Amino acid sequence: MKVEISKTYNPKEAEGRWYQWWESQGYFRADEKSQHPAFVIVMPPPNVTGSLHMGHMLNDTVQDVIVRRKRMLGFNTLWLPGMDHAGIATQNVVERELQKEGRTRHDLGREKFVERVWQWKEQYGGIILKQIRRIGASCDWSRERFTFDQGLSRAVREVFVRLYEEGLIYRGKRLINWCPRCHTALSDLEVIHEHADSKLYYIRYGLKARPDAFIEVATTRPETMLGDTAVAVNPKDERYKKYKGESAILPLLGRELPFIEDAAVDPAFGTGVVKVTPAHDPADFEMAQRHDLSQISVIDEDARITANGGPYQGLDRSEARTRILADLEAQGLVAKIESLAHNVGHCQRCNAIVEPLLSTQWFVRIQPLAEPAIAAVELGRTQFVPPNWAKTYFEWMHNIRDWCISRQLWWGHRIPAWYCDDCGQMTVSRTDPDRCPQCSSGKIRQDEDVLDTWFSSGLWPFSTLGWPDQTADLKAFYPGTLLVTAYDIIFFWVARMIMFGLKFMNDVPFKDVYITGMIRDAERQKMSKSKGNVVDPLEICDQYGTDAVRFALARVGAPGTDISVSDELLDSYRAFATKIWNAARFIFRYVDESDRLPSLAELKQSNLPLVDRWILSRLARATEEVNRSLEQYNLHEAARHIYGFFWHEFCDWYLEMIKLHPERSKPALLYVFESALRLLHPFMPFITEELWQNLPHKGESIVIAPYPEFDPEMVDECAESQAELIQEIVKKVRNIRAEMNVEAKLTVPVRIATADTELTELLSSAREYIFKLAQVSQLEVVTELSGGKLAARAVAAGLALEVPLSGLIDVETERARLKKELEKVQNQADSLERKLSNASFVDKAPKEVVEENRRRLADYQDQAAKLAEGLKRLG
Ligand SMILES: [Zn+2]
Ligand SMILES: [Zn+2]
Repeated sequence: MKVEISKTYNPKEAEGRWYQWWESQGYFRADEKSQHPAFVIVMPPPNVTGSLHMGHMLNDTVQDVIVRRKRMLGFNTLWLPGMDHAGIATQNVVERELQKEGRTRHDLGREKFVERVWQWKEQYGGIILKQIRRIGASCDWSRERFTFDQGLSRAVREVFVRLYEEGLIYRGKRLINWCPRCHTALSDLEVIHEHADSKLYYIRYGLKARPDAFIEVATTRPETMLGDTAVAVNPKDERYKKYKGESAILPLLGRELPFIEDAAVDPAFGTGVVKVTPAHDPADFEMAQRHDLSQISVIDEDARITANGGPYQGLDRSEARTRILADLEAQGLVAKIESLAHNVGHCQRCNAIVEPLLSTQWFVRIQPLAEPAIAAVELGRTQFVPPNWAKTYFEWMHNIRDWCISRQLWWGHRIPAWYCDDCGQMTVSRTDPDRCPQCSSGKIRQDEDVLDTWFSSGLWPFSTLGWPDQTADLKAFYPGTLLVTAYDIIFFWVARMIMFGLKFMNDVPFKDVYITGMIRDAERQKMSKSKGNVVDPLEICDQYGTDAVRFALARVGAPGTDISVSDELLDSYRAFATKIWNAARFIFRYVDESDRLPSLAELKQSNLPLVDRWILSRLARATEEVNRSLEQYNLHEAARHIYGFFWHEFCDWYLEMIKLHPERSKPALLYVFESALRLLHPFMPFITEELWQNLPHKGESIVIAPYPEFDPEMVDECAESQAELIQEIVKKVRNIRAEMNVEAKLTVPVRIATADTELTELLSSAREYIFKLAQVSQLEVVTELSGGKLAARAVAAGLALEVPLSGLIDVETERARLKKELEKVQNQADSLERKLSNASFVDKAPKEVVEENRRRLADYQDQAAKLAEGLKRLG
């Protein structure tokens, strides 16, 4: 019985069916007892609140292509999936739900609120993991983890306590980013800097020793002046040398402010004198540390003025600004106001303006952790792909500051510190104490804060494997092999995993870090909800087929470079899937269910025709290139080679050539097609399984079939050069036919000049291909071309050939047509040339438009040359 497949491929139906089967067969499961070398990737855990966007799809496609190939190569592969509990993001989602019910988290209380978040998680969380299955990701779901599950929480506490015991975690008063709406400290990542048009106010400060003199101080935030504790100038600024040792007087409050000199002051900003407000500005905070200045907090956690603000106490920060400016104006102390564009930090979650505040928080002393992490990358124990990202890593690591790890949230790992109400003792403990170890009082309270989410995700590569227990998983799968991530979290996540891995596992968590680019739209714009240009990966997977989307992303996604996703791009790779499907339908016309897949040895023993030897050789070369590229993480190169082989060699030439003798080529055809499907499988897992299962094959599933490896013995240079010569002749004859407008139904004679007997033999044995593929009726091998009227000439791979066209075309009609055509093309070329020689167009038009015009001009010029050549032939 012949094998039959449907006329068109239905991706959606096939994808769901195969994924379920793969998962139920356990193909994605890693084996901690395996003797095979391990290949390990931990998935960057998406937020439990998240749903799949194109960034995930790119990231997961890259990981899946790499993992699937390694699995097929026999590695004991582990791709560990999971989710992040995403402190602030998740808390906000549930708070918004409560808001709809007219309640706040405070109405529920901490315990009930956290319960409610868990309920939410069970019900709605983790949609993204289903979506990740939908795109074919071959993760080991039996090892799925959550940063807030029991095991990982134990790891978090162990790390906290150890670091605390070693003096690497401390509690202290520092300047942090504060959201007055969310009421929590924010990491730098959670602060979005937005461009704002604001004002620069020049304010007059009096001088203690010179009653009639003023200095002018420029500031964008006059309300913070209430907290000034000094004025500062650059030590090299000659203008203000005379004030050395003097003091200024703070307007409105009358406080004395010493003049200090600090190199951090930019003499070109404002007047060169700046006010120093240590409690509300990070740079001023550091200056205060250097000069031992006091820190006066004047804005509180609700962004209102504190008691330190004297008459302004209780005012909101913006009301305070208005009032202070009015009072200064009344006293003639506002010298001038300038417009100034600068960046203002907003809370990523609620968009409130972030306030730098002094606050008692928990910190990790980072220097001792950073040093070994810098050394590890310097020594190449962990390498970045592409390597230039190491520079970004070093820059950040060399300027790293102590890490504020406490957050004023309820959803997260609570800080394991307890305070005694009776003796004031603080206890940090692995287990929850019920009384104070110092005075045995039962009146102890746990710290209210939770840990920054990045604290737990920083432990991901080993906490997920059972640490702190010495588990079989930990032994088998740490250190991991590869991490695939976008460049925006190198600091927040990658660096922390390296630091923690070295500290607690004595080894780097992964050997390679592959950095993906960002996804942009067809106009190369960043995707954003406000622009309305966000592409939903699941929608395009439905529309184009998941395999096509995966292949497109791999094909254009060189490491570290941004990718622009357009309909054209997706269309062209859907066409690729269709091409493969149609090739299969052609092949299945000759395949019986009783057919067997031949081995390479069997193929070699038979006397293979040239076309078969050629395609086997090309398959070997493609296999070599694909493996080499994937080993270097160049997925785009690998995809290019597979595409080129499949489409241009296998489909365009091989399938056409064997149409003459399909039965004779059947063994090689089956062998090559089956191998090509395996080569393609990591990129297009679904369609390859669907077809492979219908072909004669060995094994249960293509997922666990061996990946093709390069066999130099399959390379046949002689067959390659012979087949390419024939293809070249066919192409030249086809060109002549097209250029001279020979009717499709007419056949043409061809003369080829050579004295080489081997070539003559080859041409005679291969004539049937030339006849079939180029509509040739007669092939004559001569020592010299005779020329004559209307003989179109060309050179194919060094061989001169001619096609006598006499009687095949009507010379007069053809001449008129060519002339007319040439004129038209020439006009278009001329007009483009004029446009492009116009300097104002070239300077003013967008670069893409100019490029497009240049490309079209080159096209027209090329066409014109061909038409002129045709005219010449007509004599
Ligand atoms: Zn906020
Ligand atoms: Zn006590």
